[in-house]
Amino acid sequence: MTADEQAMRRVTAIRNGTVIDHIPGGMVLQALQIFNVDGRHSNPISLVMNVPSRKLGTKDILKIEDRELTQEELDRLALIAPMASVSIIRNYSVAEKLSIQLGDEMINVAHCVYSNCISNAEREPLPHRLKVLNTSPMTLQCHYCGRNQNLDRLVKNLL
Ligand SMILES: [Zn+2]
Repeated sequence: MTADEQAMRRVTAIRNGTVIDHIPGGMVLQALQIFNVDGRHSNPISLVMNVPSRKLGTKDILKIEDRELTQEELDRLALIAPMASVSIIRNYSVAEKLSIQLGDEMINVAHCVYSNCISNAEREPLPHRLKVLNTSPMTLQCHYCGRNQNLDRLVKNLL
């Protein structure tokens, strides 16, 4: 390892927290939105954007210090990064590896982007159900109105 590499590792290593790898290039800012990180009231965060990736072309990496993502939080990430891999770091080493567990449906993750959908009617409290038609590219369809969802808009509709 060269001195430069060593310095790089020191800069990027975190003591405790979560490292999320294999976020598609350029999507890390949406990942922050998904985890409700607004930049002003958050733990220390490191972003790496648009590094070459054999799997994805380019990828982003996100490191959140002193916060361990739960499986539930992680599953929300499927909206933008179904291939993401997650390491929980404790005392500078990987304590746990998690991956997104995407079933046939995402339940109560986000609400349908169509405001006239029955699932968005306040008088009809229904669970929000999105069918997973495909993961690459991610294609989601509302269980109730059958319409495909625009992912950029859907990220704004997270519950
Ligand atoms: Zn709908």
